[in-house]
Amino acid sequence: MRMTVMVLALAGAIGCDLVEEEEDGLRRVSTSQTSDAQGTVSFTFNVADDEDAFLLTAEVPGNGYAVVYELVDPDGETVVDAEKLWTQVTSRTGGVYPAGVVSVNWPIQASDGDLKAGRWTAVIRTTDAEYYYKPGVETAIDVLKKTDNAFADGGLDIRIFYAGGVDQDPAFVASTEAATEYWKEMYANIGLEADFTFQSWQNGALPPPGEGAEAEYEAIANASSLSTVNVVIVPSIDGYEGGGLYGIAGGIPGPLVPTGNSAVTVDALTNAGPDMVFNDAELQLYGETMAHEVGHFIGLFHPVETDYAYFDAVDDTPQCNNRNSCEADLGGNLMFPYPVCTFSSCVQQDDLSAGQGEIAQRYAGVD
Ligand SMILES: [Zn+2]
Repeated sequence: MRMTVMVLALAGAIGCDLVEEEEDGLRRVSTSQTSDAQGTVSFTFNVADDEDAFLLTAEVPGNGYAVVYELVDPDGETVVDAEKLWTQVTSRTGGVYPAGVVSVNWPIQASDGDLKAGRWTAVIRTTDAEYYYKPGVETAIDVLKKTDNAFADGGLDIRIFYAGGVDQDPAFVASTEAATEYWKEMYANIGLEADFTFQSWQNGALPPPGEGAEAEYEAIANASSLSTVNVVIVPSIDGYEGGGLYGIAGGIPGPLVPTGNSAVTVDALTNAGPDMVFNDAELQLYGETMAHEVGHFIGLFHPVETDYAYFDAVDDTPQCNNRNSCEADLGGNLMFPYPVCTFSSCVQQDDLSAGQGEIAQRYAGVD
């Protein structure tokens, strides 16, 4: 017995390496730990010289919450500090706000520099919805690392899931395909080649990702490869019927490992209107909605929020402080928070800035 204890203690002291697997071109490290009396889970992982970005995801069961509290690089520098980010008017990563599944991609943008090789430390805290720390919560953590530093030029696999029979109408399928063509052009402007595949999915009775149907969303994510972003088109998003919700993303950034948040969900009825036939204006919005929500999923915030007081952390999306100036400066940006419309048409929201491109290109799912 004593022998065993000594061996274990030694293994702890030298830093036991977690098992690393290669999957769909990504290197994956996984662990599961229970948070301590302070609601903290701390773990370390290795980044090799040839690795250029990683996506860290923490997941807690049921109605629990977690935040990525700190991310410390091999030089001991805290590069993500939740306490600091909570007080700022610019948003960098959704992973520092409490949710059942939280993700941080690093580096986030070019000014973060290259990914440093060596031993990284991540500190996750398990909380309730009010940010109070909660001990003893089982926390699953995954780190996906990519070896791709071509940050001007990347590819993203996107799978469209036609759920609940929306693809039984050939006109709906044709309009969706037309919308993906428009979407492709928007992403091409930041050097991102979107590659689409399509699949039918039986169950379309789904709430937004992160709000239930966890097993169903995990099954959807398992049906596509690890680096694929899943877009689930349902007849109507459960709980939001007729509420004007066009679509919603499972995180900013969203997780690639299968979780209840590993999708973007799109409401067919809101996009196509009650006649379920797309006119030109609706088709434009449909393409922009899907590209916008996947934009969130790969790390993009709104350049300005609807209170005109919170902003993204991108240098080349101007800061503005009222409705008129924001619509004038940013109304054509894909990530603007709402469509800018007159009675007959909406402003095309298809612009992405170079700074937004930097973020998208660093997302681990982009190769
Ligand atoms: Zn949005």
